[in-house]
This record gives sequence, C-alpha cells and structure tokens, in this order.
Amino acid sequence: MAQRTKYIVVMGSIMSGLGKGILSSSIARLLRKRGYRVLPIKFDGYLNVDCGTMNPFRHGEVFVLDDGSEVDMDFGTYERFLNQSVTGRSSITGGKLFKRVIEKERRGEFLGRDVQIVPHLTDEIKAWVRGVADEEKADIVLIEVGGTVGDLENGYFLEAMRQLGHELGQDLLFIQLTFVPSLGKGELKTKPTQHANRLIQSMGIRPEIIICRGDEPLTKDAKEKISLYCSVAIENVFDDPMVPTVYQLPEMLEKQNLYEVVANRLQLRKESVEQSEWDKLVGRIAKPSGPELKVAMVGKYTSVGDAYVSIKEALVHAGAACNCRVGADMVDSAEIEEKGVRALEKYDAIIVPGGFGKRGTEGKIRAIQYCREKGVPFLGLCLGMQMMVAEYARNVCGLKGANSTEFDKGTEHPVVDILPEQMSIIEKGATMRLGAYPCLLREKTKAHELYGQAEISERHRHRYEVNPSYVQRLGDGGLVISGVSPKNNIVEMCEWKDGFGIGTQAHPELKSRLEAPAPLFVGLVKAALKEKKG
Ligand code: GLN
Repeated sequence: MAQRTKYIVVMGSIMSGLGKGILSSSIARLLRKRGYRVLPIKFDGYLNVDCGTMNPFRHGEVFVLDDGSEVDMDFGTYERFLNQSVTGRSSITGGKLFKRVIEKERRGEFLGRDVQIVPHLTDEIKAWVRGVADEEKADIVLIEVGGTVGDLENGYFLEAMRQLGHELGQDLLFIQLTFVPSLGKGELKTKPTQHANRLIQSMGIRPEIIICRGDEPLTKDAKEKISLYCSVAIENVFDDPMVPTVYQLPEMLEKQNLYEVVANRLQLRKESVEQSEWDKLVGRIAKPSGPELKVAMVGKYTSVGDAYVSIKEALVHAGAACNCRVGADMVDSAEIEEKGVRALEKYDAIIVPGGFGKRGTEGKIRAIQYCREKGVPFLGLCLGMQMMVAEYARNVCGLKGANSTEFDKGTEHPVVDILPEQMSIIEKGATMRLGAYPCLLREKTKAHELYGQAEISERHRHRYEVNPSYVQRLGDGGLVISGVSPKNNIVEMCEWKDGFGIGTQAHPELKSRLEAPAPLFVGLVKAALKEKKG
C-alpha cells in the first residue's frame, strides 16, 4: 500500500532574513535524494495576489513559473535545489486566500453564515494544501510559512497548520528555524530562542526539530539549553552554519543526521545514497580548478542583491559546468550613460538583464555597442535583447534614433513595439506574456548549437517584442534572427555573426539548475574563457 502523504512545516522565529527558503529547499533536497516526490508549498502573508505587482528592487526578483505564475523568489531556490518545476498552486498568498473566500461569499456559498477566519479561511487553507498534495501525488509536502512567528500576517496560516497537525497526527512535523546570537568567543545566547519557542507553543504548535542560525557554530552547551527549555531531544537541535555556497547546505545538514531524525519521525526510508552529479558540481563551486571570470550585469542600480538572483545563480551553474568561478557585479547603466563605458573594461563578459522603465536604457545600449565593437561576450535577457536590437538598428543598420516604444513613443524607428494583444490591457496583475513558450531555433546558429536541439521552451515576462515590420531590415543588416516563436513568429532570439553576442526575449536564467545549466549562460562563460586564454 502506498504510504500516506507526510507533511513538514517550517516556521521562522525571532527575526526575518534567516534563510528559511534555503533551509526548506535543503530539507526538500535531502528528501528528494531518497527518491521521494516532494511538493514545496510557500505561504506569503501579503495581500498582493501574486508577486507580479511587486517592485523587485524592494522585494527581490519576481520569479516566473512554467504556468506563468509570478511568484516569490524562494520558488527559484526550490526549483534549483529540487531540479524540478513547480506550479503556481504551490504559492499561497494572503491575497489569493482572501480573494477566494470573498468570492465564495459573494456567490452565497456560505449559506447565510457569518464568514470567519476560523473556520472558513483556515478550512480554505487546509483544503488547498491537501488538494495540491493529492493532485501532485506528493509523498512529502514541505510547507514554508513566510514571515516570522508572532507576525499578524501569518497568524491565521499558523492556526490552519495547527489544525492540520491535529488532523494528521504523526504525519505532520513542525520545524522551528531560529537565531542564536553570540556575544563573542562562543558565548551563545539561547534566550531569544526559548521565548520564541514559548510563543509558538502558546499557539498550540510544538516544534520537534529546532534549527539554529548564528554567527558562530552552535556549542554543546547551547544545544543542551535549547533541548531543555524547548522540550526537544538534543539530537533534534541542529546548526544551520554559514556556508561558502548555499548549495553546500544540504550536505551540512546531512552530516548532522537531519535526514535520519526526520526519517525516524515520519517513518521514511533510510538506505544510504550514492554521491551524485550534484555533489560533484558543488565541489566545483567550492573549489574550481579554472580561472576566475568577472561578469558585469549592466542594469538599473539596486542595493537589493536579490533583484537579480536567478541570473547570479545561472552564472554559478554555468561556472560549475565549466569548472571556473564566475563573479557577478552590478554596474549601474545610468552611470555608463553619464561617464561612458570605462567601468566595463575589467569585465570578461557582460549581461544586460531584463527590466522596465526608461532610466538607464541609453547606458545599456552603449554597453552593448561596446561589447559588439570590442568582441566582449554579451548576453541580453528580455529587455537586454530589445536593447541589443535597438543598438544594432541604430549603429549598423543606420536607423537613427531606433528605440522601443516603451521608452520613446515618437521614435522614427520603433524597432521594439508593444505586442498586439497587450494593447488593450489596462490591469497590471498577471497580464504580461507570461510563462513557458516554445521557440524554434534556426540551424547553424550559435543558439542552436548551444541548445543542441531545434525546439526549446523558456519562460517569459514581457509586454513588448521586436517589431515584425523591422525584422527583414535587421536581417538584411546582418543581425541573425536565431529563434522565433512557432505560433506567431515573435522574435525570440537573435545573435551577432561575429563574436559571442546573443539576445533572448525569454528569461533562461529562470530554468537554470545546477544539474541542468542554462545553455546560453554556459555559452557566455565558455566564450569568456576562450577570450581570456586568448
Ligand atoms: N520592459 C520590457 C517588456 O515589457 C522587457 C521586460 C523584461 O525585461 N522582463 O517587454
């Protein structure tokens, strides 16, 4: 008989920013490694329906799934760690929940009752979680509760988890992530953890595993205290250490027997597993044998390091594939506009990422021109490709002032224009061309060579496209149109004939995994390595 679905709920305590997503993904990976079908679910308390309307410079990158859902960037971590694509049903937000319940109320589905957080909203949550688990035939559901215990925003969700725990008994396990500060020299302070644990217990939830972040390794003394005050066995207290690369965290947890403890508690398989491709690649990230490359991401400046996280990770994956380290720096395109391209001279390759809004677009065009003229490997992602086309149109095809109508409505040469189906759209949420679309690659192009196949699929998030009425002129001018969308001929990819320069309307970084690196990123890194060696 098939085993019943098991549930693990990860909660953050004391403060935010402890790396709950990476921890949850690492636990998911340990389970997946044993052959279990793991379904990650994340709850986010905000009232936005999805992340599509959030500013990435405040909130971090908007991640896009195959089905077009715009979700929290933690989903990128899940997909990268599990090497598996998830659906939008894995993302539960406050906005989606309230919207559902209110819509039901408007349809009269509550039969005249007053609609309440408990039981109506909490029932909705439990039905959602169990429903996706069934649909996906999950062996184990790993639920990450966004925010920190004690927040107003996730209180009702935790209440739903308490109820679910009550219904499922031994099939559900709560994990508390906590922070153990240090006053220096091994003097670790467990009191915040004790208080946070009491707060959780006051909600009727008893964490059975406690995982501790801190600046220093967890001492035996600290573990004993946590065990005593929080009523967990000492073997169930774990260290979540600082690691040189996040990809090492699963192994760090494994070494402390986290899998064993979870397996004992949830009655899972315990046979040991072999070294895998993943382990080999993680070893290469930690100690690459090749040279170090420097890549500039030329975009809108941001102090939020997470705004371009998938691009950075795709470079890590490509680096591991090529056995070299790839460092990525943000270079402000507005600064290039003002001061020229000098700042780019120290870089081995350049990426112009996706984006919205006019600021800095002229700087991006300058940077692309610099790459084309100097033979610096270049990759343009979404807006990056659109700007690549504008640069080529202006400087090679002689189309003066060519631009995207997103930035210059009156341009004489609208080489990038709004997609026809986008013209009448007014609402902002989930209305772009979103998710996975196929692309046909032309033979004998660099793109075709890198992907090694003619039909590919990548994820999208845009409103504009290369203007079909300029495609002929661009082609005549020497720009290689290397990929088009089969249904409506949208230009999906283009490249320069000489040197390495590829633009894609898609966001291939979103599907890059350590075990399946994005071909265009691998191409970029290989080209940069070749240039470096001379
Ligand atoms: N702003 C451009 C568009 O909407 C590019 C979007 C992006 O880079 N994701 O088409």
